[in-house]
Amino acid sequence: MAVQTYFTPQSLDEAVGLLAEHGPSLLVMAGGTVTMPLINEGISTPDQIMGLKQVGLDAVSVGNGIVSIGATTTLTSMVALSAIPMLQEAATSTAAWTIRNMGTVGGNLFVPPPAGDLAVALLALDAQVKLVSSGGERVVPLAQFWSGWMSTVMAEDELLTEIQVPIPEGETAYLKYGRKHANTPAIVTVAAHIVSDGGIVSKARLALGAVGPHPIRAIEAEAVLVGSSLDKATLATAATVAADASEPFTDAVASEWYRRRMLKVYVGRALSQMAGEGEGD
Ligand SMILES: Cc1cc2nc3c(=O)[nH]c(=O)nc-3n(C[C@H](O)[C@H](O)[C@H](O)COP(=O)(O)OP(=O)(O)OC[C@H]3O[C@@H](n4cnc5c(N)ncnc54)[C@H](O)[C@@H]3O)c2cc1C
Repeated sequence: MAVQTYFTPQSLDEAVGLLAEHGPSLLVMAGGTVTMPLINEGISTPDQIMGLKQVGLDAVSVGNGIVSIGATTTLTSMVALSAIPMLQEAATSTAAWTIRNMGTVGGNLFVPPPAGDLAVALLALDAQVKLVSSGGERVVPLAQFWSGWMSTVMAEDELLTEIQVPIPEGETAYLKYGRKHANTPAIVTVAAHIVSDGGIVSKARLALGAVGPHPIRAIEAEAVLVGSSLDKATLATAATVAADASEPFTDAVASEWYRRRMLKVYVGRALSQMAGEGEGD
């Protein structure tokens, strides 16, 4: 069936009101870079769509050490976000300008792996997401947002409206490895954030993309890093532990076997970069 109704709410109240009224039969569309191709190919057949472009969720603000990013902010806007260079890098490695001009930060949290490049960086930065319904709002850490492949903890009547990102202290690193240098799906994506005190790691975040059902934290590898110096032996152990704990998959881009091996290499490189040793092996 062709799309019967395309709603263009002009405010958040109107948008969550439409969600409450129509429920899951209403397809939410932000930039449409994922949803539109599926509709055009007949894979997705919604009869009602709600476009978010006029809701006013595209502002970015910085205050109290937090960058608040409206859910429909484009990936292109992230390229200009000097407050958090890792997000600039991640946005630059996501698709091509044409897609970045349409695709949104919020939308990037819903795409299945190997996409979700910005989501991996946001996870390493301890981002939180604001979820709003006609009944109220709640803030959920991104680490608790995904519940499985293409599933999240969002209720059917909730809309993701904002991503809140603490400006990181310490060191960050972001590496995406694909078959081409740019405009390519990920074989693996690694985003890391480390805070050290007197040469000893006091906080470690290691987020991985394309090696699980959604962006994942390498919790065991983070534990290896905390309390240690970033010496070669620790970095090698952390990379091995991250690769062993990952759940890569095989697709047209790469095999599970290759992803796991490249994950170890790229975690090692990201950590070496932060330790000031170049990119390691
Ligand atoms: C050619 C091509 C190349 C690509 N390359 C990459 C790449 O290299 N890296 C990468 O990460 N991605 C890539 N993508 C995927 C995609 O473009 C981006 O991930 C983009 O950020 C998706 O955002 P969108 O606003 O267009 O999503 P949409 O298509 O509008 O929506 C995607 C999903 O998110 C849901 N959704 C969106 N916003 C909200 C919200 N605020 N609240 C609730 N639900 C919402 C929608 O209901 C839908 O299920 C590529 C896509 C294409 C077509």
